[in-house]
Amino acid sequence: HGHAHGAGEQKAMVPGVKAIVAVASGKGGVGKSTTAVNLALGLAANGQRVGLLDADIYGPSMPRMLGIAGRPGSPDGRRLEPMENYGIKVMSMGFLVAEDTPMIWRGPMVMSALQQMLRDVNWGELDVLVVDMPPGTGDAQLTMAQSVPLAGAVIVSTPQDIALLDARKGLNMFRRVDVPVLGIVENMSYFCCPNCGHRTDIFSHGGAKREAEQLGMEFLGEIPLHLSIRETSDQGQPIVVSQPDSEHAKAYRRIAARV
Ligand code: ADP
Repeated sequence: HGHAHGAGEQKAMVPGVKAIVAVASGKGGVGKSTTAVNLALGLAANGQRVGLLDADIYGPSMPRMLGIAGRPGSPDGRRLEPMENYGIKVMSMGFLVAEDTPMIWRGPMVMSALQQMLRDVNWGELDVLVVDMPPGTGDAQLTMAQSVPLAGAVIVSTPQDIALLDARKGLNMFRRVDVPVLGIVENMSYFCCPNCGHRTDIFSHGGAKREAEQLGMEFLGEIPLHLSIRETSDQGQPIVVSQPDSEHAKAYRRIAARV
């Protein structure tokens, strides 16, 4: 019946990892990676042992966002050691290929790369492995949803209708493969002028919250569009660790506490 059921038997745990949480969005550019990294750091700030897997094979962003350069080692010649910064362990295709090298891969190769980044990496003991999913509802998302027991998915959306429509697709995909949706985060919820503090609802406001209510989903919180979130991200010093006392950092930590 077109469903992706029956994969349950193949779902093997990743040894040492207690829970795997996917951060997903229906389309690109809504701030999924920014949310994933600050959520992971928020979980770590709340005392958890955290790993972050950058599953965006075609557009890895974690090396830059976390200010990590270099290549993962493999002391035993079999498994890769994850990279580490700000107290979290990280694996990304960006550590394995040069930044300007395009990944010209078809679905099966992406899927096997994802499997390797999950299982052939020495994650150690983790309370949570956050997976920054590629945008959309294709092969990579299905592989993740079907081959590992996801504790749940967090969906990131802007308040705009079109983005919400895409977010709804993501939601339905997870439901179809029996992955619980933990809730929705509204990113770029409103704009705060860094000079005068005036607030503008650039992409309208509250759409994700309404949508969450209608779909019977948890609304996990809203993050404004703010220059310092973008700047800290680009500098490889995400706001949760570089400005831990800011309103935004607190908002991310509150979201982390609900996941
Ligand atoms: P996605 O993973 O959905 O493609 P990114 O997390 O890469 O999106 O974000 C896209 C761009 O928007 C990046 O330059 C990022 O720094 C910026 N951005 C994301 N969220 C915010 C925010 N709340 N405020 C300001 N800039 C943001």
